[in-house]
Amino acid sequence: MNLTSRQSNLSVNFAVYTASAYFCKKHRTLIKKTTSELNRISPSEFKRSANDRITVVLDNIRSKQNIGSIFRICDAFGIGKIFLCGISACPPDREIERTALGATLSVRWKYFSSTSSCIHQLKECGHQIISIEQTHNSLLLNEFVFPQDKIALVFGNEVEGINEEVLKISHFCIEIPQRGTKHSLNVAVSAGIVLWEVIHKGLK
Ligand code: SAH
Repeated sequence: MNLTSRQSNLSVNFAVYTASAYFCKKHRTLIKKTTSELNRISPSEFKRSANDRITVVLDNIRSKQNIGSIFRICDAFGIGKIFLCGISACPPDREIERTALGATLSVRWKYFSSTSSCIHQLKECGHQIISIEQTHNSLLLNEFVFPQDKIALVFGNEVEGINEEVLKISHFCIEIPQRGTKHSLNVAVSAGIVLWEVIHKGLK
């Protein structure tokens, strides 16, 4: 497409956008949906339909609020399982519930005292292990092509990151590119970004 036709396409798109925004305002269609209009499935329907090719592994997550947020994110994106390892707290727990808001009833979970043995078991069941961490040989999330087989996505401790032993036995390491001044993102925010990307890239 040459520049002129691209520019005219953009202005057509903008005109359509402006017209529909005007229509929405005039006809008051920008009204927030009620909870029942959101038409969510029940926890038991979720358990039946959730994605069982993706497992989220939490390596020694210190904050219960982060754990609860990751449950809620997994629920939102239809991810069926979370493996909680090491010091990561498990449901039922009031602090986890503050951010999970009931997602601990839909997303299945299992506890492992050692993250490495959890990873070994996942490998034996045919999972590709993808650590989400900033390392010297990390691949960038936006360039990464997710394998189409079973995958386990590992997220690390808020201070220490993912344990070195776990990194060594991972198949891939992925980094979320950052532009600002801070070293890293919050672990639950990282989970939201990566899980959206996996789903968005069509891994079913
Ligand atoms: N200070 C720690 C940061 C841990 S942040 C360190 O230097 O390792 C907690 C977790 O969030 C990380 O283990 C990782 O799983 C995830 N995370 C945060 N920012 C990230 C980024 N830019 N790319 C990939 N993972 C990230």
